[in-house]
Amino acid sequence: MGRYTESVCRQCRREGEKLFLKGDRCYSEKCSVERRPFPPGVHGQGRRSKPSEYGLQLREKQKAKRIYGLMEKQFRNYFKKADRQPGITGENLLILLERRLDNVVFRMGFASSRKEARQLVNHGHFTLNGHKATIPSMLLKPGDVVQVRDTSKDSPKFQEIKDQAAYKTPPEWLSIDVENLTGSVLAYPTREQIDTAVNEQLIVELYSR
Ligand code: SF4
Repeated sequence: MGRYTESVCRQCRREGEKLFLKGDRCYSEKCSVERRPFPPGVHGQGRRSKPSEYGLQLREKQKAKRIYGLMEKQFRNYFKKADRQPGITGENLLILLERRLDNVVFRMGFASSRKEARQLVNHGHFTLNGHKATIPSMLLKPGDVVQVRDTSKDSPKFQEIKDQAAYKTPPEWLSIDVENLTGSVLAYPTREQIDTAVNEQLIVELYSR
């Protein structure tokens, strides 16, 4: 499977904004966007021309892909699926992305970033409805229950996560039981409940060209 080899902070600097890809570091003064607020590379501080309409659409799509940690083909498949669903394609797309198991684990506060959530899922630390779940792309639905496996709960990593999760508030479409490291999907998210800073309409326009 393809993957990004560029450092995650360079991805934020390329987009010119914080994409929150690194967990706690993103909220500290060590954040590269704060320390070097210009694009990476030798021409990063050079003059920049006004982006074209296509350029704006492309950047928005790249930003969404980076936030959710997806490659082009996977991302386009989500778009195709969203386009086939009734309703507004852009909103459908974001809702599909939010329903991924790795995203839900992150939103529940059981990982400090989506990247970490994906790794924890891959390593078999979670169950979904009582069964071991190791596929980060699984799409969750209302009623689904995510839990840290009993064998992982007492590890220092999850004790630390538990302490941190106690201070986090999950979005309204999820509920968590921090003590038991368990969370449930209450409903599909609405667009208003998704705080991802992307203009999904620009992505729809890009793929509709
Ligand atoms: Fe982006 Fe976080 Fe790196 Fe800042 S610390 S540049 S928000 S990944």
